[in-house]
Amino acid sequence: MQLRETLWFDPTMMFVGGHWQKPGCDGLIPVEDPSTGEQVGAIGRASGQDVDLAVQAAETARAGDWGRMAAAERGRVLARMSQIVLARAEDLALIESGDVGKPMNQARNDAVALARYLEFYAGAADKLHGTTIPYQPGFTVYTLREPHGVTGHIIPWNYPMQILGRSVGAALAMGNACVLKPAEDASLSSLAFAAIAEEAGLPAGALNVVTGYGAEVGAALSVHPGVHHLSFTGSVATGRRIQAAAAGNVVPVTLELGGKSPHIVFDDVDLEPALPVLVGACMQAAGQTCSAASRVLVQRGIYSDVRDRMADIYARLEVGPAAENCDLGPLVSAKQKRIVAEYIELGRRELAVAAEGRIRDDAPAGGHYVAPILFADVPPDHRLAQEEIFGPVQVLIPFDDEEDAIRIANGTEYGLVAGVWTRDGGRQMRMARRLDAGQVFINNYGAGGGVELPFGGVGRSGHGREKGFEALYGFSRLKTVTALHG
Ligand code: NAD
Repeated sequence: MQLRETLWFDPTMMFVGGHWQKPGCDGLIPVEDPSTGEQVGAIGRASGQDVDLAVQAAETARAGDWGRMAAAERGRVLARMSQIVLARAEDLALIESGDVGKPMNQARNDAVALARYLEFYAGAADKLHGTTIPYQPGFTVYTLREPHGVTGHIIPWNYPMQILGRSVGAALAMGNACVLKPAEDASLSSLAFAAIAEEAGLPAGALNVVTGYGAEVGAALSVHPGVHHLSFTGSVATGRRIQAAAAGNVVPVTLELGGKSPHIVFDDVDLEPALPVLVGACMQAAGQTCSAASRVLVQRGIYSDVRDRMADIYARLEVGPAAENCDLGPLVSAKQKRIVAEYIELGRRELAVAAEGRIRDDAPAGGHYVAPILFADVPPDHRLAQEEIFGPVQVLIPFDDEEDAIRIANGTEYGLVAGVWTRDGGRQMRMARRLDAGQVFINNYGAGGGVELPFGGVGRSGHGREKGFEALYGFSRLKTVTALHG
């Protein structure tokens, strides 16, 4: 089925105050199918004035029906949204696959994950509460958990459904009214989400979706004085701008930024089950994953064995059109392909290639395909071992012992996720404590999966936590009430 036929809403409209409205700017933003490079549709290009309208609509909602709704009722609305997402999972997967080039099996996972986020936050909506605090005689002191008010959500193109699920889902559960700005490369699933919210009976203005460019809509949202909290997922460069904008209005901000996540493989590990996970943890979404396992650190005694066995897996990896259940689809855009190709050229000039995957012969010529590549014996300070590439590129780095592994693993400016592969229980605990990362996986890797698991970074990977119950603290604020009653 064609992408256009799958859409049951008009993608050139924005969703503000419960209405589908034409954005203020003339002209549309083309939607390109990354598998073919062809234009398959268009979305609306909103302006700063449209952001004003969306923030006003959100303010009205939080002061009105949405703000007055009981927490349990908010949960029921989210539960209905979850059910509609599940019922429409195949359509959502087709939309995402056509928009960002994700193979259908991965796009289906994203749709199911969105439903699960909504389910989780539906159940959590009435579970977070304040406490009473022992104070001086004659006083009763208690705290109230309240929503921030209007929350701004700026998200990237790589996992739109998962990221809006974890951020907008949690914010709505706490009773905030949201303004969502999806990436200009991947707005269709956010608009579909708005249509689902409408169908589920989410009160008007509780969710507003404004499509457009980062420098126009994103910038206007991040500096808007009517926004009380900002949640941003994207690049470090944009994250810095968002944080500066939040500082201007003195509002809290959650930053979920990039990564250069290490997987550390010790010589006591059972390699058979570990190896496909090590490769898969980088190849998901064709390497365009913030938590991609882009660095594989291997203890010297098993290094050549791991390199050769990973090379066997690479030799079977196929890149092809996203509509099919390929190992990897295309990258999202020609721009992203160019950036990744430059890194690969640099690697070919300066490093040893251990293995490569293959682009299928039937992949359309205009698609943004990049064959996966594994570089060996990479010095830890090499650019390919330090910089986030956001493509199917992995580097192998040998290490001697625990101390060496920690030094290398912690030796980038990032700290999002880390993997540790060892059967030694003491080492597992030591490594988990010493790794500079927001999330550590031991003998597995499920970043992105597990909606219950708090997620976020340290260092340049950002701050604040989304996902799980923890997100509800971030999307709420505490009020202390001190009553003197004699
Ligand atoms: P990006 O920063 O270019 O764009 C992200 C969003 O910010 C888009 O919606 C964009 O329109 C908007 N934006 C751009 N300029 C802006 C500005 N001046 N003001 C306000 N908004 C602006 O990032 P990207 O290239 O879309 O995404 C890739 C990056 O996202 C990678 O670095 C990746 O690691 C990161 N990422 C992180 C996570 C996480 O959870 N930590 C998840 C996914 C992606």
